[in-house]
Amino acid sequence: MGVRFEGQVVVITGSGAGLGRSYALEFASRGAAVVVNDPGSAVDGSDGEPAVADQVVELIRSLGGKAVASYESVVTEAGADAIVETAVNEFGRLDALVNNAGILRDRALHNMTTDEWQGVVDVHLGGAFHMTRAALKIMRPQGYGRVVYATSNAGLFGNFGQSNYAAAKAGLLGLSRVLAIEGERYGIASNVVAPVARTRMTEDVLGEFVQRLGPESVVPMVVFLASKECDRTGRVYSAAGGRYSEVITGLTTGWVASTAAPGPEDIAANLPSIEDNQGYLLPRSVFDELAQIKAALAL
Ligand code: NAD
Repeated sequence: MGVRFEGQVVVITGSGAGLGRSYALEFASRGAAVVVNDPGSAVDGSDGEPAVADQVVELIRSLGGKAVASYESVVTEAGADAIVETAVNEFGRLDALVNNAGILRDRALHNMTTDEWQGVVDVHLGGAFHMTRAALKIMRPQGYGRVVYATSNAGLFGNFGQSNYAAAKAGLLGLSRVLAIEGERYGIASNVVAPVARTRMTEDVLGEFVQRLGPESVVPMVVFLASKECDRTGRVYSAAGGRYSEVITGLTTGWVASTAAPGPEDIAANLPSIEDNQGYLLPRSVFDELAQIKAALAL
């Protein structure tokens, strides 16, 4: 049978172009009814090509699939509510949400304007918040949901000129992990993907490496995480040109001070033990981490 979506409804933000478009086509080919959301922005979020959502919908329908266009921006609460309402009004339910919409306004931190900062945070982090809260109104009562967020290597590892983008993308990890914990009792799983793929957003960055890195290598990870087959939650996965990895947030086992209040000199002297990453710990929640601290301190 494979991973199928018959009877399921998937909303994908920013799916008129790039990775989102590839996700939309794959979900539809696997039986999902898809809401293709995209206002058709340029890479920097300014006005672009409003017809992109319609074009993806037409293509899906011409291939025998089910899709409807939505042109709202994820930036406002009203926009996000309208995107979710489109799913419910057209197809009667909502099973999976892929938070994919994104823009870039790169500049070195010392020169970044408040508008450049806020605009990028509003789309990636604010948009994902508005969309998730709107989706929860449907997913919690129905006792099922899959939410996928798009982070970035810039947010995980840092990248010159992308303080706004990296901060927003790193913020999504926290948002997703909290949703994973809060959503568990309602059958809602939440995971994050860090894609690397050739799109208009990255074609100038990836250089000659680009040819191997088409969106198609990211698609299967996103489709799996949005499916009922996905039994993972609170995870972060990298999908890059055919290499798939879990991105882990861990702690070294650390150095345990002999007093509760060591001095900065003790920290400096013990950095090699503090940083020794043999036998690292992988807490999956704040409670996990507190339990690990208690164990280290033998409390
Ligand atoms: P893209 O520019 O091709 O697609 C992004 C889409 O989001 C566009 O169609 C755009 O119109 C839409 N969008 C912008 N603002 C929106 C808004 N307010 N509401 C709804 N839609 C909006 O870029 P892409 O490379 O396909 O990126 C998709 C996602 O993946 C983004 O979140 C991006 O940050 C992330 N990502 C991509 C890569 C990569 O290698 N391509 C790497 C890391 C992260």
